[in-house]
Parts: sequence; C-alpha cells; structure tokens
Amino acid sequence: MRKLIYILVILTIANILIGANYPDFKSIVQRQHEIRAQEKEYYARYWPEFTENTREMDNYDVLYYFIDINIDFENEYIEASNLMQFEILEDGTTEIDVHFTDDLTADGATVNLITTSYTHINGIINIDLMGTYNAGDMLEVEIFYSGNPVARLEDGIKFEEHAGVPVVFSMVSPRGARKWWPCKDTPADKPDSLDIWITYPSQYICASNGLLQEEINNGNGTKTSRWHESYPVATYLTSFAITNYQIHSFLWEYNTEQMMVDNYYYPEQAASSIALYDQCEDMLTFLSDTYGIFPFLTEKYGHATCTNLGALAMEHQTCTSFDAGYISDPAAEYTVAHELGHSWAGDCLSIGSWSHVWLKEGFASYSEALWAEHLYGSAGLQDYMQAEDTGSVLDECLYRDDTQGANHIFNSVVYNKGSWTVHMLRGILGDEDFFALMQYYFQNPDLIYGNVLTEDLKNCAEDVAGYDMDWFFDEWFWNYGRPRYNYCYYTSSEEDSVKITLFSEGSQSDPFNMYVPFNIDDEQYRIWAADGYNYNTFETIGAIEDINWDPDNWVLDGGYAEKIPTLDEVSRSRDGSTVLTWEEFFDPEIEGFNIYRKLVGEDYIQLNATPVSGTFYFDEDVTAGQQYYYKISAVFDSEENYTSKFSNEISLIPVDFTFDQGILLVDGTQDY
Ligand SMILES: [Zn+2]
Repeated sequence: MRKLIYILVILTIANILIGANYPDFKSIVQRQHEIRAQEKEYYARYWPEFTENTREMDNYDVLYYFIDINIDFENEYIEASNLMQFEILEDGTTEIDVHFTDDLTADGATVNLITTSYTHINGIINIDLMGTYNAGDMLEVEIFYSGNPVARLEDGIKFEEHAGVPVVFSMVSPRGARKWWPCKDTPADKPDSLDIWITYPSQYICASNGLLQEEINNGNGTKTSRWHESYPVATYLTSFAITNYQIHSFLWEYNTEQMMVDNYYYPEQAASSIALYDQCEDMLTFLSDTYGIFPFLTEKYGHATCTNLGALAMEHQTCTSFDAGYISDPAAEYTVAHELGHSWAGDCLSIGSWSHVWLKEGFASYSEALWAEHLYGSAGLQDYMQAEDTGSVLDECLYRDDTQGANHIFNSVVYNKGSWTVHMLRGILGDEDFFALMQYYFQNPDLIYGNVLTEDLKNCAEDVAGYDMDWFFDEWFWNYGRPRYNYCYYTSSEEDSVKITLFSEGSQSDPFNMYVPFNIDDEQYRIWAADGYNYNTFETIGAIEDINWDPDNWVLDGGYAEKIPTLDEVSRSRDGSTVLTWEEFFDPEIEGFNIYRKLVGEDYIQLNATPVSGTFYFDEDVTAGQQYYYKISAVFDSEENYTSKFSNEISLIPVDFTFDQGILLVDGTQDY
C-alpha cells in the first residue's frame, strides 16, 4: 500500500511537472512570427523587387573562393581580397560579372595573376578576362577591395558592442555576402569549398564556417584565423563573428561517429548560453535519426552569439549566429531546432531559386514541430501545428514570385504553410514512408550538397510512395487557399453502414483534391475527396454516434460544416391544413424528404409513403386545437432507407377554420 502511495505521489508530481513545463506553442510560434515580420520589413524597405539578374553570370561555374580579410575595429574599416576559381560554361566568354556592393571600393583585379581592367557599377563588377575562353576552361580571378562596410538592411558586416566590448560579425542572409566580399551571390552556384582568413585584434576570438586550420599571431596586435569550409557552401551562408568569446565545446557521438560542437558565447551570458546551445546535442541525434546523419560531420556544429543580429538567428553553415537578446527567450529552444534543421534543409540541400524558399523554411519550421513531438508526443506535434495555422494569411501559394518584393519571398507563408505542407505529406504517406522519404531526400547522392527545387522533392516522394504526387504539389505549392468541406451522412435502419456525402471546395476558388482522414466513432478511415461532391459508403457495426473529421489534424483545411435539413416554417394554410417549408438541401443526390409528426407525449410517425421532393409539404390530416410537432430528414436511398439526421423541430396548434375571418392565425413556435 505504501508503495502504491509512493507511485501515486510520483505520478502526481510528474503530472504537475509536465503541466508546468508544457510550452505555450501558440506564443512560441507567434514570437517567431513577430520577429520574422520585422525582418521582412527590413527586406521590403530595401528591395522593392527580388529578381536577381544572374543571366550575365551563367557563363561560369564557381569552384572555390578564398577570402582574405583584415578588419580594423577602431575605424570600422576592412582591407581584403577574394580569389575565385571557376570553370567557363560558354564558348567565346571574354568577361564575367560578380556581385559587389557599391559601398566598398574595388581596388584592383587579376586574371591568372595578371592585372586586368574592370568596371564596378550598380553592385556589379565586370571583369575583362583578357582573352576568349571556351566551356571547360579553368580560370582564377582575384579582386582586391577596401572601405567602410555599411550594414544596410541589417546585413553585411556589423560593428556592435556588448558589455562595452566590440563584437564584429557578418549577417548575410539573403544577399549580404556581396556586402563584404565580391562573389556570384546566388545559392544556385555553390563553390565546392571555401577558405576564410580573418585578421583582427589579437585579444579576441573568431568563429566562422568549417574548421579552424591555424591561428597566426602577427606580432602587431593582430592575429589571423584561417578557416576552411570543405563542403559546398552557399554565399549567403558564409559568416564570421569576433569578440571576447568564451567557447563551450563538447563531443557529440552518434553510433560510431563523433563530431565537436563549439558554442561561442558572451562571458556575461555564460549560464543561459550554455543551457540553450547545449540543447543542440540531443537535437543533433534526433534530427540525424530523422533526416540522416548531420551533413557536415567532418567539421563541426555550433553557435556564435551576436548583438543586433537583425534576426533571431541565422543558419550560417556549421556556425549558427544567434541574437544575444533572444538567448533567454522561452521560444529560443525551438529556434535552435529550426536553425539546426537548416543544416539539412538550406545548407546541405540549398534552394535552386528563391521562388522555392519554402524548401528550406518549411523543413526548418517542421523541425521545430518534430522537436515538440519528440519532447511531448503527438500532443506536442498537434499543438505545434495548430499554432502554425495562422489562418487566412496562409491563403497565398507557396510558390514565391521573385519578381515581387523581398517581403513577398520571406512571407510567413513559406514558414507556416511550408511546415504544414511537409506535415501533410507525412499525413498522406504515413510515418513509415514519410521518414523513409526524409532519409531518401536528404541523403540522396544526386542531390546532397547541391541545389533543389520543389520538383526534386516531388520526384523523391514519388519514388518512395510508388505513385504520382503531382496533384499534391499542385494543391499545396501552386494553389491559393485551402479546402473546406460540407458533409452529411445517412444511416439505414439496418445500422450496418453509413453513406457520406462530402463536398469539397477551395477557399480561394482554386480546386482542391485531398485525402481526408476521419473517425466513425473510434474507427479510423480515410477518403479521397476530389473537388466537388464525393459519395462514399462505409460498413459499421450498430448505430453510429458521430463522425470526427481529421481528428489528428493532418490537413490544413478550412473546416467541416455538417449539413442537416432545416425546417423553415410550419404554418396553417387557408384550407385548414398545415404547410411545412424547408430549405433546399446541399446534397443534389437525395431522393427527397421524410416528414414526421407527433402529438405531445407520443412518438413521431412518418407521414409520407415515398420521399417528398421539393421544399414544402401539406399535412391535411390535422385537428384544430391540437398541438403538433414536425421534423424532417433527407432521404438518400429510400429502398435501403438511408436517411439523414433529423432537422430542427417546429410545433404548431392549428386554429379552427370556422373562427377564421380571413386573417391568418398561427400559433407556431420554433424550437431548434
Ligand atoms: Zn529559417
């Protein structure tokens, strides 16, 4: 008995703890949306359109970058060079274009070590290759530059301070790389590898992408950190951050593999930073189980704290930047999961076009929901997804038109509807196939470390599912709105089956075809609901209590409205009979209606022998002064006697005709 009491006490404490710690997912998701909306504001201010003219850059393919940058903290000044190796893609190429901010000065350029001429206008450096080259030719161009970086749009190089100490870092998403180094600034052309050498005041510590190869004390109050990123990396994912960091490192072990995790934090935030950043250890294991092993395994993962980052966090490759003001936020744990998720979605599999940005933000956002599920089971997943459904703002299509502004590209649609689209894919495939797809897609040798478009995900999904998935991406990538449903069900007196009429329509006029899960009492079912009317019959055992649509929340729907016949009015007609009128029913396939009547204290009797078509009925067999009750039902199949739920009930006392002086006297009450 005592043991039992102990167990009860422990269970109670456990319940209290779970209750106390269960996160408010709504506020977590909202918190992230608010900040993202701010980011969007910045983008919108500087980029009225997001079309990137890389046409002039399609004549070469970048293989390697080597950035050598010297940062003068005092004067907020840089002196740097970038050497790029590339392959010519078009015969007859005589020049190439490179993105570079007009805020910095290009001081010189070489082609294969020989000085060449160039122009630098409107954010583009055009370099004369001093010769004509053909597809397959390899070249090396080096550009020297200097100046005071301007962090427009909250990105580029930023000179900030924390606790009186300077912190200098780059924040480069989505077009900030060109603000500190000249490059072909599109995620669609990743170099195979990259070196960043950074020279800075020797009392500080520098975090960057990949592995630190060497640190050289220059003997003049500066030191140089030589970082090497050995994996392909998109320009918008390159970064560095320098201040009086402390480093908290640990070894992450996964099966027989291991990797260092290095977290760079501010001394004054030691406890909160370590507590937050260390959570990525379990997440690395969990997401490796989910998406396949962490893609930058031979290097590292980690975080670097920055001040006024301009975002909550940014998934710079192998070194996520995290805003100092956000570290103690209750939502921050889910941001850690989001950014780590980007290691697979965005960093390893980079988007091939900003129009498909959901492929990185959708999966990163779904990583948050998966983490909630990992911690809190299916309730965590469902609550998280519920919070991600922010209503009609998700009516826009996932495809982003990059001729529109940056605020269009980074709309919350790509996060929330993106996450929902991954979730719905899971709902359709089922867990076994969905998680097989995750491994197949993220570890696919044809895709890994390269670029993806929505088509690539679709092809992988079709390979795993074994059937055509065009319809799914039509609905959720190209379509506006979401499906919403009207339904009615009919049961027979045999109580052995139920007929369901489900009407599907898109909330924004686009048609929707979708699998819809539902329960009949406790039994689980799923039907294919094409746009328009759908008719299905299911066997049941005994009378059914209810139909519960999408009980586990797998579809981003606009709701399910049950349709039941509605009696409008019951009144007395001039000839003394009772006339019933009702609304047109939504289901065009019904045969008609059954009419039921009763007296107080008696059972209902059916008045009609065959279904009544139309929307009215005369009951002539009435006695003045008696109170009658009426209701109707829709008849789907009179032979098998399939009828809908009963309508509302209306009562009436017919008045004696002889007293009627031509005035319509009705004593009717409606009872819904
Ligand atoms: Zn993201």
